[in-house]
Amino acid sequence: MTAQARTNAAPLVRARRLVVKVGSALLVGGGSGRVNRAWLETLVEDLLRLRKRGQQLILVSSGAIALGRRRLGLRPGTLRLEESQAAAAVGQIRLAHAYKELLEEHGVTVAQVLLTLEDSERRRRYLNARATLDELLTRGALPVINENDTVATAEIRYGDNDRLAARVAQMVGADCLVLLSDVDGLYSADPNKDPRARIVPEVRHITPEIEAMAGRSASQVGSGGMSAKILAAKIAVAAGCHMCIAAGHHRHPLRRLEEGAECTWFVPSATPLAARKQWIAGTLRPAGAITIDVGALRALLEGKSLLPAGVTGARGRFERGDTVSVLTAEGVEVARGIIAYSDTDAARIMGRQSSEIEQLLGFRGRDEMIHRDDLVLLRDVTPAAEAARAPREALVP
Ligand code: GLU
Repeated sequence: MTAQARTNAAPLVRARRLVVKVGSALLVGGGSGRVNRAWLETLVEDLLRLRKRGQQLILVSSGAIALGRRRLGLRPGTLRLEESQAAAAVGQIRLAHAYKELLEEHGVTVAQVLLTLEDSERRRRYLNARATLDELLTRGALPVINENDTVATAEIRYGDNDRLAARVAQMVGADCLVLLSDVDGLYSADPNKDPRARIVPEVRHITPEIEAMAGRSASQVGSGGMSAKILAAKIAVAAGCHMCIAAGHHRHPLRRLEEGAECTWFVPSATPLAARKQWIAGTLRPAGAITIDVGALRALLEGKSLLPAGVTGARGRFERGDTVSVLTAEGVEVARGIIAYSDTDAARIMGRQSSEIEQLLGFRGRDEMIHRDDLVLLRDVTPAAEAARAPREALVP
C-alpha cells in the first residue's frame, strides 16, 4: 500500500464508529429483483474485517423497494407512493433476511431498525433512537437501518438514504460515513461531457462552487443523486464526521478504498463530540434552567455527569432532550446541556439518588440528569469554579 493510499483511507481505518450506506443499485442485481449475493458476500467480508479491528459498525441499506417491486408484479418506471410503500413492505423482509443469513453465519447478530424523518427531527424520538442504537452497538449487534417506507408519507420521507445515513451518523456520533453507490466520487465536471473532469479527492468546505459541481455531475440511478449526497455531507461534517462518496459496485468495496481507490472525502473541522458540544453551547435560547449545588459543580468541573442528587431547583418548561442552562446557587450560568428529564420529572427527582428514580417516576430513566457527553462547561466559569474548588468548609456559611 502506498503512503498516498494510506492517507486517503485514514478516516475509514481510524474510525471508532462507522456508518456504511449501501445503495439499491449495488444490492439488487440488474433488473433481476434479487439480492446480488455474490457481491454482498464480499461486502460482508469487509465488514467483518472492520469489526475484527474493533470498529463499531452500522449499515444503512437501501433496496427494499427494488427487491419488492417485481415480486408484487409492479411495472418498471416510477411508482406511485402507495406502490413503492407496498413494494418496500415486501422487499424489506427479504433485505433483512439476506443480511441476517450472511452475517449470522459468522456469529454477528443483525438488528433491523426502520426510521422515519420524524425520528431524527423530533427530539424525544431522536433520543430514543440514539439510545437504542447505542445499546445495540454496545452489545455487539450490527444495526441494519432503512427508512420505514411503508409508513412514511410524502411529507415526512427522507426519500433518499444518503441523508438518512448522515442523520444516523450524527445521531450515534460516528466518526466516518461511507456512501457506497454507483458513482466513484464528486467530479469537477460532468465526465460524460468533459474529458478533463476529475474526481475531487478532498472537500474541506462545501462552497457554492462544490454545490455547482454536484449539480453538473452525471445523473445516477437511485433516488439519491449527487445533490442528496452533498446535503448528506453537510449534515455529516457539521456533526464532526468524515464522509466519503465511493464506488460500491466492485467486489470488496471497503477493502478497495483502503487500498487507495479514488473517492471523495468530506473533511469536518471538529470531532463528533466537539461538534455536538459546540451545538449545545450555541443554543440561542435554552428552554429552562436548573440550579445545582457546590458538590455537583465540583463534579462537572472534573468532567463528570450531573446527577439528580446535585440539583436544587428547576425553572421554565422543558422536555426531555431540550437544552437547559445550568446555574450555581448565585444564578451564574456555568454550563449548558441536554437534559434527560422534563421539568416536572426533574423537579420530582432533584436532590434524590439515581437509584430512587424508578420508584419516584414509575419508569427507569437515565441515572444522569445531564450526561457528560451532553454537557458543555461555559468558558467563563472561573469565579464559580474557584468557589467550588475551595475546601468544602469554606463554602458552608
Ligand atoms: N428506502 C428505499 C429502499 O429501501 C431506498 C431509498 C434510496 O434509494 O435512497 O428501497
